[in-house]
Amino acid sequence: MNQAVKEQILQKIKEYNRIMLFRHVRNDGDCVGATKGLKRILQLTWPEKEIYLIDADTAAYLEFMGPEDAPVEDALYADALGIVLDTASEARISNKKYNLCKELIKIDHHIPLEGYGALQWVEEDRSSACEMVVDFYNTFRDELKIDSEAATYLYTGMVTDSGRFKYDGVTGDTLRNAATLLDVGVDTQTLFARLYLEAFEYLKFKAQIYERMKMTENGVAYIYIDRAMQEEFNLTLEQASACVGCLDSIRGSIAWMVFIDNGDDAGTIRVRLRSRFVHINSIAEKYRGGGHACASGATVYSLEEMQSLLADTDALVKEYKETHEGWL
Ligand code: AMP
Repeated sequence: MNQAVKEQILQKIKEYNRIMLFRHVRNDGDCVGATKGLKRILQLTWPEKEIYLIDADTAAYLEFMGPEDAPVEDALYADALGIVLDTASEARISNKKYNLCKELIKIDHHIPLEGYGALQWVEEDRSSACEMVVDFYNTFRDELKIDSEAATYLYTGMVTDSGRFKYDGVTGDTLRNAATLLDVGVDTQTLFARLYLEAFEYLKFKAQIYERMKMTENGVAYIYIDRAMQEEFNLTLEQASACVGCLDSIRGSIAWMVFIDNGDDAGTIRVRLRSRFVHINSIAEKYRGGGHACASGATVYSLEEMQSLLADTDALVKEYKETHEGWL
């Protein structure tokens, strides 16, 4: 699938001596894993090429993957090939110097809101961008090199973006690609411990999530984590945001979301929307966001707008439940 564009991408990689890798803002396991994994594959295969991954921050829970490259002079971008992974739109590219690159390639698995770059390989049905990088490796495995370091980065993204191989996008190909990585060598016990063990205090916060969560008439579970709650439990925004997973297993609640007060001057509230069976990306797109059919992000600017987003989702879920059978 997509053989022609993958061949064109390989050709471009061969043409350039310097390659810059980019990912999205508010990084997660997939964009970090995909950029670090591809960087490692390119370095192993072409040690003479300069491969840079320059990004100012990595989420605290992913710091075990190691730091990124230090910033370089702007001039170095000018004759470089840029490869942007896991990022639907230019506005979400984290390192804004991407547009200094001579040419840009987009490799992504989000619903395409906007095209950018000379070459685009987008497969919205893939469970993760990391899966696409593994597919790229498998397509050209006679030429490309991989090791357990690269495999671990890529496995991290595959595991986190698929909810440990649980979500809808997981296919036979997903597991075959994951198997490629396990064959190369991944210490899954250590990786899962790093990703999923939780601090004692964080579990106390989670208990409060269950205490304070609410439900709309038609079964949209949600919680608003305001500044007071963040301060009460001494949470970073990242820790507060992570609790969306707490709401994912309520029978009959086929859409759920968390609202996190960002505490900025503009008064933004981050929204993380999730669902099963019903697709909620249209709601995210209406409120300045986007993402995947069942996992999207958005931004609202007031409690009124939060209520309006909830009402829209509630209506969507109502309509879905009335017209479909088999949801749980
Ligand atoms: P989050 O809840 O922030 O993890 O977002 C869920 C998914 O939607 C991730 O794949 C994000 O990359 C994507 N996403 C979040 N916000 C946006 C946005 N404003 N535009 C497009 N995609 C987004």
